[in-house]
Amino acid sequence: AKTLGKACYQVFDTAMHQHAQTQLRLETDLRRAIERQEFLVNYQPIISLTTLEITGFEALVRWHHPQRGLVSPGQFIPIAEETSLIVPIGLWVLKESCQQLVTWQQMLGGETVPTLKMSVNLSVKQFSQPDLIDRIDQFLEQMELQGHLLTLEITESALMDNPEAASQVLTALRDRNIQLAIDDFGTGYSSLSYLHRFPVDILKVDRSFINRIEDQDNGLRIVEATLAMAHSLGMQVVAEGVETQAQALQLQQLGCEYAQGYLFSKPLAAETAAGVLAQPPAF
Ligand code: C2E
Ligand code: CA
Ligand code: CA
Ligand code: CA
Repeated sequence: AKTLGKACYQVFDTAMHQHAQTQLRLETDLRRAIERQEFLVNYQPIISLTTLEITGFEALVRWHHPQRGLVSPGQFIPIAEETSLIVPIGLWVLKESCQQLVTWQQMLGGETVPTLKMSVNLSVKQFSQPDLIDRIDQFLEQMELQGHLLTLEITESALMDNPEAASQVLTALRDRNIQLAIDDFGTGYSSLSYLHRFPVDILKVDRSFINRIEDQDNGLRIVEATLAMAHSLGMQVVAEGVETQAQALQLQQLGCEYAQGYLFSKPLAAETAAGVLAQPPAF
């Protein structure tokens, strides 16, 4: 057993070492990825459960690595967070997706879809950058985009880490009519008491709750309670990761406003999303 233990440890150690090397390599590559234009944005439709129309898209970054191919955000966002590279990457995504929204508005004629929205993820790091609001102002002005068409998604920890600073940023966003969504709601240190202190417009209920919604006792009750709380605070709700018709029906019956998930569409390349907009599918 002793020798086996040692062998196991060596295998483990080698694996750890390889993992560390991969991380380091990715970090080096990540530093060059912006200037080499290796990022792209995919867009996942957000559907109104009342009209079953696409009301907007969530921008999701993709990294096309020259050797590794597509690297998932789950792999590189944590590295980007640790190294603060998420700040320039996040700004690039914001600019790119706002530009895309303006292009789509023009393509469809601003009159037809004056309300098509873009939702963009903001990391905790970005959220605490002192020049965040200036940069956003810059983009909005450059692209002549109205603030109410932009939604920023942040996680609960961005609010909780520094509530005072968060309050200031949120007030500035509100002044610009930019919508604020709490992402992955229910997975962090959700406390009902803090939510009402911030001008939050939208709660995005995490997929882990949505895929338990058919469980009468646990899943359903939690989503029901979350909806009741959100609505009483004047917030709208997006259900994340909706994969089945049964889930969508249940959510509709509970009065959930929006849904997002593979049932409706996976995140799409910009050209594909444009096609879907020009010829909306019947959900
Ligand atoms: P998120 O913000 O919670 O985004 C939703 C994730 O769930 C996306 O994964 C999306 O592809 C996936 N998803 C959507 N519908 C379904 C479904 O029905 N079933 C399942 N199983 N998954 C679904 P993705 O694109 O891999 O992104 C993962 C995470 O990476 C995001 O989670 C977000 O936290 C982060 N991320 C992605 N793009 C950005 C970005 O531009 N900036 C920042 N800061 N983070 C980003
Ligand atoms: Ca998100
Ligand atoms: Ca989410
Ligand atoms: Ca998530």
